[in-house]
Amino acid sequence: MKRRKSIETILSHAGLCSDPATGAISTPIYQTATFGHPRLGESTGFDYSRTSNPTRLVLERMLADLEQGNRAYAFSSGMAAITSLMTLFKPGDKVLVSDDLYGGTYRLFEKTFKPWNLNAEFVDFSDLAAVEQSLDRNVKAFFIETPTNPLMKITDLKKAAKLACTHDALVIVDNTFMTPYCQRPIPLGADIVVHSGTKYLSGHNDTLAGVVVAKTAGLAAKIGFIQNATGAVLAPFDSWLVLRGLKTLAVRMDRSQENAATVAAWLTKRKGVRTVYFPGLSGHPGQRIHKTQSSGPGAIISFRVAGPAVVKKIINRVKTITFAESLGGVESLITYPISQTHADICAAMRDRIGVTDDLLRLSIGIESCDDLIADLDQAIG
Ligand SMILES: *Cc1c(COP(=O)(O)O)cnc(C)c1O
Repeated sequence: MKRRKSIETILSHAGLCSDPATGAISTPIYQTATFGHPRLGESTGFDYSRTSNPTRLVLERMLADLEQGNRAYAFSSGMAAITSLMTLFKPGDKVLVSDDLYGGTYRLFEKTFKPWNLNAEFVDFSDLAAVEQSLDRNVKAFFIETPTNPLMKITDLKKAAKLACTHDALVIVDNTFMTPYCQRPIPLGADIVVHSGTKYLSGHNDTLAGVVVAKTAGLAAKIGFIQNATGAVLAPFDSWLVLRGLKTLAVRMDRSQENAATVAAWLTKRKGVRTVYFPGLSGHPGQRIHKTQSSGPGAIISFRVAGPAVVKKIINRVKTITFAESLGGVESLITYPISQTHADICAAMRDRIGVTDDLLRLSIGIESCDDLIADLDQAIG
């Protein structure tokens, strides 16, 4: 049997090319809209860049390989990927969605798809008995984040997949927080993986990107059709940026996770900091399950402080850490979910899940951990 290379090697060779014409080792950026044909009935395999583009195709093949799926498709943003994917479903269909999740995904279901009668029911996927109770014959898919954004709840993916199977529902996992370096949902039973490639995959806060990976050839054909028909494709230059980001994914994740574990442990002991949500902390309710399905805790930490006055003080005082939405880059960011990433979730739902005015979220980067802790220490005051 052919030995499979380890993921570090596969990643560091992302987009490594051996162009026979020039010897270029970086995949060229094929900045072209269309492709000429020598004769009627002859083609290089490329027709038009919405349908397929050589730079994008190198990225898509790489992502399919990393997630152990049949085929991957790259979109212009994470939301474009999720929007396109949802056109798989029909009016009257229902999707069970993690109740604690990226605010933009919630907004998409509530504001865009609900009027089209594609309905989302928001459930706590860390409680599969509750999920089972919400199952009915209209449920066509589960849409899961694990860990969730921002409260880091964990779903047992193998058990969720078994439950979905009994109802012929697809399992879709948003794997943005973990990346395929740390967690591969498809071998655990998922049918489809989505990513905001804006985050760790590209890794430098310099491009937007989205990804859909399909487990089977049948699903891949449907998603490929949708990608070409709806058209929110990733541009050649942005595809190249994601390829370049992937080369360092393993080292970035290792360093960010190591930093995050140190920062999370420090926060638990810091006066003025209340609950800390991080899957790497002992006592985290999902830690045992998370460890069975992921190789690391990730690098996102949420924590509570006394209230909005303390939040304001911290946000205004941080210097090394930038106050900005987003996550997954080499630079650390601090986010206030209630007014940024989760602002469009209705107040009743935010209260129910715990996205309240005392909650902050950190995306820990690859800086010196001492500098990050010193910055938080002076900001918390
Ligand atoms: C950012 C994010 C998205 C949306 O992706 P964009 O690239 O910003 O469109 C979706 N899911 C998660 C978990 C995210 O963090």
